[in-house]
Amino acid sequence: MRSHVSRCAPLEACGLLAGKNDRVESTLGVRNAERSPVRFRMEPRAQWHAFQRMEAAGLDLVGIYHSHPNGPDHPSPTDIAEALYPVAQIIWFRVDGRWRARGFQIQGGKVVEITLEFR
Ligand SMILES: [Zn+2]
Repeated sequence: MRSHVSRCAPLEACGLLAGKNDRVESTLGVRNAERSPVRFRMEPRAQWHAFQRMEAAGLDLVGIYHSHPNGPDHPSPTDIAEALYPVAQIIWFRVDGRWRARGFQIQGGKVVEITLEFR
């Protein structure tokens, strides 16, 4: 994830996290159709292909990630309004040039931070 968001900066990067039982097994970067530094919308075809690959591998959608190359370190009002899936939302942001990630559950306009564990 980190190399993907870093490569896409200063544009927002986005992608899907596939796995089982809240454990991520694979990261599927999806092209940001907006090509914007402040917005993302997964390119529908690329997103469809990512879901196909996930299904073929027998994995579930456990998270969605995107980056905020210029902050903030939390979901924007748009992120909250547009959160479609009840899965972990990972946001990547920079602190002194270094990428950091925070995780959130967003449901019905409510945002709750969740703990991320990196292996
Ligand atoms: Zn966002």
